[in-house]
Amino acid sequence: MAEDTPGAPDVLNLVAGGVRPSEAAAAVRRPDVVPLEVCPRAFIIQPSLVNIYVLETDDGLVMIDSGLATDADAVFAAVRGRFDAPLHTVVFTHGHLDHAFGLRRFLDAGERPRIVAHENVTRRFDTYMRTARLNSLVNKRQWQLPFLPWAPSTPGDFIWPDVTYRDALDLRIGGERFALRHAKGETDDHTWVWVPGRKLLASGDFFCMTMPNCGNPNKVLRYPEEWADADEEMAALGAEIMLPGHGQPILGSERIRSGLLEQAEFLRSIVAQTLAGLNAGLRHDEIARSIRIPEHLADLDHLQPTYDRPEFIARNVIRRYGGWFDGYAADLLPAAGEEIAAEVVGLAGGTDQLVARARELAETNLALACHLAEWAYLANPDDPHARACVVEVFTRRADADPSLMSKGVYMRLVRTADGSYEPESEDAPSQPGPGAP
Ligand SMILES: [Zn+2]
Repeated sequence: MAEDTPGAPDVLNLVAGGVRPSEAAAAVRRPDVVPLEVCPRAFIIQPSLVNIYVLETDDGLVMIDSGLATDADAVFAAVRGRFDAPLHTVVFTHGHLDHAFGLRRFLDAGERPRIVAHENVTRRFDTYMRTARLNSLVNKRQWQLPFLPWAPSTPGDFIWPDVTYRDALDLRIGGERFALRHAKGETDDHTWVWVPGRKLLASGDFFCMTMPNCGNPNKVLRYPEEWADADEEMAALGAEIMLPGHGQPILGSERIRSGLLEQAEFLRSIVAQTLAGLNAGLRHDEIARSIRIPEHLADLDHLQPTYDRPEFIARNVIRRYGGWFDGYAADLLPAAGEEIAAEVVGLAGGTDQLVARARELAETNLALACHLAEWAYLANPDDPHARACVVEVFTRRADADPSLMSKGVYMRLVRTADGSYEPESEDAPSQPGPGAP
């Protein structure tokens, strides 16, 4: 599947291509973004990481998703620089930071669109308030972006939906039917939107031109089987235009159908392999390492691990169906990590020996080298050789892995070891900070 419309640079492709996330973040920020016409009366706005869609109707504008809080000025300027019609209805495809927080300028300007979302979006917002600091830490680690440590923490930080629904909701706007359908996938609060009169499907994050974000090591449970069900349901619609939450719009019914079905097959394959591993009594790490992507799917553009990874999806399936015990008896009630590290250093004959072996292994087995480097550092975090080794080995590991989530975890350790990591403040800020775009 290829891209049909020209658009903004994509943060995942930049990062997968070797650009550091903080530089990629600068590259994708577009304060002067303008709406681009995807097809008659449907426009895409790409202010940073996410897509916002504006559909003209005879009753006014329908907006699908709204962007990050830090996109608010750009989105407002883009919409009001192009359209005079009132904002009639806004649909949040889900309550993530990049989809449901960009409407503030419209509200401040006195606009009062109807805001529609699945009922779990309000539950998500309640959870976000209880876990604001956690979300701040996790987003900073995952993205390494200057504007994502912000986490909403008070009711006023959220834009609350006016209308919520449970399974399905049909809206009639400007004489057209907008069919909102709920399914679980990346989240439990997702909506996809089908406009049959236009053969137009807004998929939310069910389709993003990257491997499904269905195993994220930093986040709550995902739903691969329900995601595949939703893919198959959307594939049967006969959509000719698909508007994804990230990446470029897809035009052409066959490409849309095959893309969705390929994604469903990809997810079902990982689930089946994982369940087979669980049923065979394998340890969790054995299952994750055993996952193989079917050959005819492995090279497809829209299933590349630029964000998530198949191994992480397997871990998510394990979490759903099994307990957290990983199969290693010593891990049930383990010794402290630093204690294990110090013992290994002692057995190796000292930090320098462990560091030397880590460097040697890095040439042939980066995964194994990472264990040794991390032990050397954990045992002696002030030892300059251990620090240099962890920086070297984990930077290589990050560079070798296309997944932004992997890079985030590895580079967090690198930046701690080289002293460049800025610790978060103790309190999650209640507003995007002054450094935010
Ligand atoms: Zn998203």
